Amino acid sequence: MLEDKNQERTSLSELGEFGLIDHLTKHFKIHHTSTVKGVGDDAAILNFSNEQVVVTTDLLIEGVHFDLSYVPLKHLGYKAVMVNLSDVYAMNAEATQITVSIAVSNRFPLEAIEELYAGIQTACNNYKVDLVGGDTTSSNVGLVISVTALGKAIPEEITKRSTAKAGDLLVVSGDVGAAYMGLQILEREKAVFKVNPSSQPDLEQYSYLIERQLKPEARKDVKSILQSLEVLPTSMIDVSDGLSSEILHICKNSGVGCNLYEDKIPLDPQVISSCEEFELDSTTIALSGGEDYELLFTIKQEDFPKIKANPNFSIIGHMTEEKEGAHLITRANTKIPLIARGWNALSSED
Ligand code: ADP
Ligand code: MG
Repeated sequence: MLEDKNQERTSLSELGEFGLIDHLTKHFKIHHTSTVKGVGDDAAILNFSNEQVVVTTDLLIEGVHFDLSYVPLKHLGYKAVMVNLSDVYAMNAEATQITVSIAVSNRFPLEAIEELYAGIQTACNNYKVDLVGGDTTSSNVGLVISVTALGKAIPEEITKRSTAKAGDLLVVSGDVGAAYMGLQILEREKAVFKVNPSSQPDLEQYSYLIERQLKPEARKDVKSILQSLEVLPTSMIDVSDGLSSEILHICKNSGVGCNLYEDKIPLDPQVISSCEEFELDSTTIALSGGEDYELLFTIKQEDFPKIKANPNFSIIGHMTEEKEGAHLITRANTKIPLIARGWNALSSED
């Protein structure tokens, strides 16, 4: 469906490993003074003076985390960076550097890897992060990408998962569930395409969902918005596995319970209409879908007036004593236990 049949194909072996690394990395700009030396030595050199450094890494495997039949390589490169930056932002830190390691099979021509790096470069430019290293090797299974991101923050600003208190309000940025519905649309179109390769799907009505799946944006802006509102979250996590799973992480790590209100969960109209079309319950999708890359955080009750009218955020519940457990309060005002059914990389169960 998204394949370009007229691609040029330059074999990776024409460049060799070092030629390839040079070719892929030479156009990347350095944005941070903390980057003393980037690509080109045995190791990068970084200098963070007095700030604390956060480090996070993610591994993406073809066939497990992405499907190249409908994910363009450029988007894949962009998304691989986003999922890592999202983890840095979830610490309330500023993302500064990344490293990118790839394992490629010779079924990929140079042009394909260039596409991947074009996406990585766009992400680096849009989010002002420096590519400072990585590793390049061959693979005989498929494409593997691992990104490591570094960020910095003063210690008082860093927000962990473990510091929410009973009585705090639970807040989420943006809206949730759209990326999962985007995946449902893409899977459906892939199945249609297999039967009829000349089909030209009209995906306009699903544009937001597909964009959220293929080109997610990490919430770099949340830190500065909260700073301008003079709100420091008491805990924070990014929504990669689905809202319920992330809420339960905060509950478990902080030793608190939670009441989440179904009618407060922010949903885009396209999520609501596509859930109707697929006969799915939109609350279940919001709770278990994942890949939203929004930020979920808790704030002190006294900060309520500063947040309540802000269009970037929705107050979706509050934390309770641990013994009260974690619950969803439904629209019908029934209280049901919150369970994690988000993506679990180690289980094949749904
Ligand atoms: P070494 O043999 O010391 O591991 P490499 O030849 O793998 O060094 O890498 C040379 C330089 O290129 C290093 O700075 C490394 O971080 C960088 N590099 C290697 N592969 C990549 C990649 N895929 N993306 C970005 N930088 C890379
Ligand atoms: Mg190496």
